Amino acid sequence: MLPEGPSPRPRLAGFTPDFKLPPIQNGLAPVITKIETKLPVVFLTIDDGVTKTPEMIRLLAEYDYPASIFLAKDFVADQPAFFKNFIARGSLVENHTVHHNINMVTQMGYAQQLAEMNAMQDYAQQQFGRRPTLFRPPGGAYSLAMRQAVAAAGMKAIVTWEAKANDGHMDYQYGKDLRPGEIVLMHFRPEFAADLAAFRAAQLAAGLEVVLLEDFLDVA
Ligand SMILES: [Zn+2]
Repeated sequence: MLPEGPSPRPRLAGFTPDFKLPPIQNGLAPVITKIETKLPVVFLTIDDGVTKTPEMIRLLAEYDYPASIFLAKDFVADQPAFFKNFIARGSLVENHTVHHNINMVTQMGYAQQLAEMNAMQDYAQQQFGRRPTLFRPPGGAYSLAMRQAVAAAGMKAIVTWEAKANDGHMDYQYGKDLRPGEIVLMHFRPEFAADLAAFRAAQLAAGLEVVLLEDFLDVA
């Protein structure tokens, strides 16, 4: 019988990451839009949290997809327990601010941005028992002040995307297929089932495995 080594982390599906998250430098958190990897992996991220249906829980469980879930407190405070269903199956909650101001970069200074982030860190800790390590800017825009605030709030990176599932189809900023290392954006919206079906078709066509971004970056 072969000796058993350290068991692979289940959410990494046996892959050993070949990408290292750049460290915080000069007080600035790195920005990740896609993971540079040769491994056949793809990362699912789901934002906001406005719509909450049992179907969403059922579908992610059926496909066994772990996801990085970027929640904004204002959207989830009516029913935070809903999201524990995803955490129980390997997903993690991350920081998408409290108020989801999509003009955060232009309308808020450093201190205000940091306050938004810190309040969401505290809320996530209270509700879900873990302080987020990743930040997604509402609307996607970021700045040096935001990168500084993300680091000051104790997070490791800003995560954006180059592919999204939207209105039941995939949108790509580059090419017309999912690439290894792609970070895919979705939302908790009424079209969730159609969006997830579009993602699943693209994922299977590209031969990629869905793994948890936090595990790949070692920031779980
Ligand atoms: Zn959002």
